[in-house]
Amino acid sequence: MSTIFSKIVAGEIPAHVVAESVDFLAFLDINPLATGHVLVIPKKEVDYLFDLDDETYTGLQLFAKIVAAGLKKAVPCKRIGVAVIGLEVPHAHIHLIPLQNVEDINF
Ligand code: 5GP
Repeated sequence: MSTIFSKIVAGEIPAHVVAESVDFLAFLDINPLATGHVLVIPKKEVDYLFDLDDETYTGLQLFAKIVAAGLKKAVPCKRIGVAVIGLEVPHAHIHLIPLQNVEDINF
């Protein structure tokens, strides 16, 4: 177990968890690009999103879809932006970013 996200899964470091299933976790990004910026991860530690096995990859997408629907209700926004960046943390994840205007993103 090596990534910071695995430490969050293990409860070794704190995170504001917004949704959890047996295999997946969603929590607030510590450095949000917009209010309500959520990261959705598989609990299984795999670096690159497209290296996930098909079952985990599909499950992650379906879990992200459910989280996005909840986020859309919880945070006033036009839509939930979806991003896959993966330059900082080598643990597959999907960014869900509630957006009202493009100016909402604090790049
Ligand atoms: P990426 O790997 O997609 O480039 O970015 C990783 C994301 O993880 C960043 O948006 C960063 O703010 C977030 N992040 C990095 N470390 C932590 C952490 O310890 N806790 C939380 N909640 N988010 C983190």
